[in-house]
Amino acid sequence: MAVALEEKIEAIYQQVKARNPGEDEFHQAVKEVLESLGPVLVKYPEFADQKIIERICEPERQIMFRVPWQDDKGEVHINRGFRVEFNSAIGPYKGGLRFHPSVYLGIIKFLGFEQTFKNALTGMPIGGGKGGSDFDPKGKSNNEIMRFCQSFMTELYRHLGEHTDCPAGDIGVGGREIGYLFGQYKRITNRYESGVLTGKGIGWGGSLVRTEATGYGATYFVREMLKARKDSLGGKTCLVSGSGNVAIYTIEKMHELGAKVVACSDSNGVIFHKKGIDLELLKRLKEVERRRISDYAGYHKDAKYIEGGNIWEIPCQVAMPSATQNELNGKDAKMLVKNGCIAVGEGANMPTTPEGVRVFLDAKIAYGPGKAANAGGVATSALEMQQNAGRDSWTFDYTEQKLDKIMTGIHEATYETAAEFGAAGNYVIGANVAGFIKVAQAMVPMGLI
Ligand code: NDP
Repeated sequence: MAVALEEKIEAIYQQVKARNPGEDEFHQAVKEVLESLGPVLVKYPEFADQKIIERICEPERQIMFRVPWQDDKGEVHINRGFRVEFNSAIGPYKGGLRFHPSVYLGIIKFLGFEQTFKNALTGMPIGGGKGGSDFDPKGKSNNEIMRFCQSFMTELYRHLGEHTDCPAGDIGVGGREIGYLFGQYKRITNRYESGVLTGKGIGWGGSLVRTEATGYGATYFVREMLKARKDSLGGKTCLVSGSGNVAIYTIEKMHELGAKVVACSDSNGVIFHKKGIDLELLKRLKEVERRRISDYAGYHKDAKYIEGGNIWEIPCQVAMPSATQNELNGKDAKMLVKNGCIAVGEGANMPTTPEGVRVFLDAKIAYGPGKAANAGGVATSALEMQQNAGRDSWTFDYTEQKLDKIMTGIHEATYETAAEFGAAGNYVIGANVAGFIKVAQAMVPMGLI
């Protein structure tokens, strides 16, 4: 890359850092994308003339608000709510809501930024956004969760709409929370506007396969990466971090495709079960009884719970980080490669640190970044919106086939784009470049907005 161009991109990055102080995760996400864009500006000089990179790095709108709520004892609590509407060049803002104590503006901005390119990769007409709160749903009663969701939506509803901004779930926001949020939106607006939220229940506008979509999609993406290397998932030993929505359905699809998942985790520890994770038990503990994975070992004598353990120390051929950002560092990546790992599919958003990514790319293993590998969730959300718009509901098989086709398409697009831009096999460059070009090509004809 010409030195002048490198300097220009570095200057944009420095400007982003200065304008968004203290938002480390956002800086990290921007840096990773910007590092891929030099050759794009050579091919499309109009993107530089129109300052598309600078515009893409600045959210269209950022909303922060107070969320007061009362616990079961009547004590008042105040949380902070966020919605960052990042980019609507190709469709209404779309992206999940995260309820977790670690949430602050920098996390929501990194997620919204990533979401913009991910959504573009799906080929569906959806822009990028993300939201959430520093509220911790852990240990709260159903009534407390409901009161929080109602208070959160009482402010957020005025910014939403099926043609404006359509949230979904993320960490700490599943079907139960979407129900309370949708109920409050409907009550305040007096509109049954199904497309405004996705991840709804099946009896009231939800789509089959949405619950499974991110995990299934990430597994399809890894299947495609292995296929491109004349290999398959059959017989592979696999690690899946986390034990939430994405992790559970990654394990399900991995088992269906003949791999064996031997470990999963949560923020307290790791379950190692050499025989293969008992998915039925895991689902019951996590989805029905809302318990911790430490309880899993009580049901299987040959399973081991490792308090505070590091899942990436367990030898495997396929690793699926599916918990949270920066959960896999350079040291973990080196250990995985040393132990024979040949493929990594990111179910979580930005789970691998920049040092870890470098290790995977240098080792030339099949590395599928979250932007591409976990796009199945939002793609199926867009399928839910399609069904809502047509007052229709599709069968499980039909919807799953569509998801499979979308993920295969994302693999093809990222694989081919990487090769076209001189980085064959590098899905980081493939995903960043393909996603960026799609959004940029929509922004240019719309003028300076
Ligand atoms: P869930 O809330 O269902 O599960 C999250 C899991 O990750 C839990 O097991 C949780 O453990 C663990 N976890 C969360 N924070 C940490 C942490 N700091 N350290 C270790 N473990 C942690 O969330 P999802 O499964 O929906 O989301 C997981 C990831 O996938 C996130 O990065 C999300 O952004 C991404 N994603 C999700 C999509 C979806 O459709 N749901 C779509 C695309 C991406 P614990 O209970 O101990 O907190």
